Amino acid sequence: GLPRVAIVGRPNVGKSTLFNRLTRSRKALVEPTAGVTRDRLYGRVRTEDREFILIDTGGLLPGEEDQLTKLTLEQTRAGMAEADLILFLVDAKSGLTPLDEEVAEILRRSGKPVLYVVNKVESPKDEEMASEFYRLGPERLFFVSATQGRGIEELLEAILERL
Ligand code: GDP
Ligand code: MG
Repeated sequence: GLPRVAIVGRPNVGKSTLFNRLTRSRKALVEPTAGVTRDRLYGRVRTEDREFILIDTGGLLPGEEDQLTKLTLEQTRAGMAEADLILFLVDAKSGLTPLDEEVAEILRRSGKPVLYVVNKVESPKDEEMASEFYRLGPERLFFVSATQGRGIEELLEAILERL
C-alpha cells in the first residue's frame, strides 16, 4: 500500500491545522478524505509523482483535562504502529513541556524515523523559543507556521525524501 505518515503531539500544538495545510499545499492534491476512525483522520496526499497517506492522530476524542496525557500517549503509540514516518509536532508559543518529553521518549524507543517539527513559529521570539526543542536531541528541527504557511514546502520535501 501507500506509505503512511502520522502527525503526533500533545493537544493544541496544531496537528489538525498542519494536516489541513499539508494536504492543501501547492504541490499536494488531496483526495476526498480516505477515512475517519474513532480517533484518527486519514488524508491522501498526492504530488506530481508521489503519493502518501497522512494521519492526524487525536482530536476526535473528547478529552477531560486529566485524560489528556493518557490520550496523547495512546494516540502516539497508535500513530507510530501504523506509520512509516512520524511527524512529531511541538508548539513554539508554549515551549517544551513534560508531555513533549514523554512523547519524544516513546518515539526514540520505537526506532521509527521521526521529523521534529516546531509549529507556530511566526516571530524572532518564537524562533528563540523553538530552538529550545534541540534539547529533545533531534539532528534537525523544522520551523513551521501551519496557519501562515511558513516552512510547509520544505517540510513536504523532507517527508518525500524519507519515504
Ligand atoms: P491539535 O489539537 O494539535 O489538532 O491542534 P489544532 O490544529 O486544533 O490547533 C490548536 C490551536 O492552535 C487552534 O486555535 C489553532 O488555530 C492554533 N494554531 C494551529 N497552528 C498554528 C500556527 O501555526 N500558529 C498559530 N499562531 N496558531 C496555530
Ligand atoms: Mg486535532
